[in-house]
Amino acid sequence: MNDTLLPPLRPGTLYLVATPIGNLEDITLRALRVLRECDVVAAEDTRHSGRLLQHFGISKPLLSYFQFNEARRSEEILERLRRGEKVALVTDAGSPGISDPGARVVAAALAAGLRVEAVPGPCALVAALTASGLPTDEFHFVGFLPHKTGQRRRQLEALRTVPGTLIFYESPYRIAKLLEELAGLYPMRKLVLARELTKKFEEFRHGLPGPLLAEIRATAPKGEFVVLLGPEPDL
Ligand code: SAM
Repeated sequence: MNDTLLPPLRPGTLYLVATPIGNLEDITLRALRVLRECDVVAAEDTRHSGRLLQHFGISKPLLSYFQFNEARRSEEILERLRRGEKVALVTDAGSPGISDPGARVVAAALAAGLRVEAVPGPCALVAALTASGLPTDEFHFVGFLPHKTGQRRRQLEALRTVPGTLIFYESPYRIAKLLEELAGLYPMRKLVLARELTKKFEEFRHGLPGPLLAEIRATAPKGEFVVLLGPEPDL
C-alpha cells in the first residue's frame, strides 16, 4: 500500500510502538511511519533507541521514560498530548508495557481522556508461544518472577491451578534457578526453552524440567530466554 493513502497520525495520540527483539528486519512499515511522523519519541533508553532510529535514517527528539521516572515523565507526556503532540513510546526491545515501562502512562492518558494507539509488532512471549508446540488457546503470562526465593516459590505454587501454558521471562543469570524450581514443583509438565528469538542463534529446547536443567547446567547457554511450561497433564 502507498503511504500517501494512509491517514496521517492523529494529533494528541500516544502511539505504543513495538520494536525488534533482535532482528532489525522485524520493524513494521507502520512503526517506521509513526516514528518518522511523530513529534517526539519517549524511550526507555534514549541512546539505544537513538541508534535504532539512526539505523532507519530517522532523526527525532528523544525523551527518556523508564521505570524510575515513569511518574514524572508520564505527566510531561500527558502535557504534550494535551497540546496536540503525537508521542511515540518505545522500549529497548519488543512491545511497550510487556515486562517493560508503558502501562503507567497508558493508564494516565486514558484516565485523562486522551487517545492511545498500539502499533503492534515483535513480542518475545508471542514469538515463543506460537513456535513452542504448546497449547496456544489458553495461556498465562507471568513475566519475570520476583528475585527473593520465598516469594518466587509462593508465586510458582499459586500458579499450579492456572490452566493453559505458563510463560516466564528469565535472564541467563537465573535460568538454572528457575528450571530447578520448576523441576521441583512440576517435574512432569512439558517445558520449552526459547532462546535468542529472531537472532542468528535462535534455539528451542523441548523436554521435562529435570533433563533440561541438566542440559543447561552442562552447556550454560548465553542470551535471553522465554520459558514455557505446558499445562498439568490432568488439568
Ligand atoms: N517488551 C519485551 C517484549 O515485548 O517481549 C520484553 C522486555 S523484557 C525487559 C526482556 C525479556 O524478554 C528477556 O529477559 C527475555 O526473557 C525476553 N526476551 C526479549 N527478547 C528476547 C529474545 N530475542 N529471545 C528470547 N527472549 C527474549
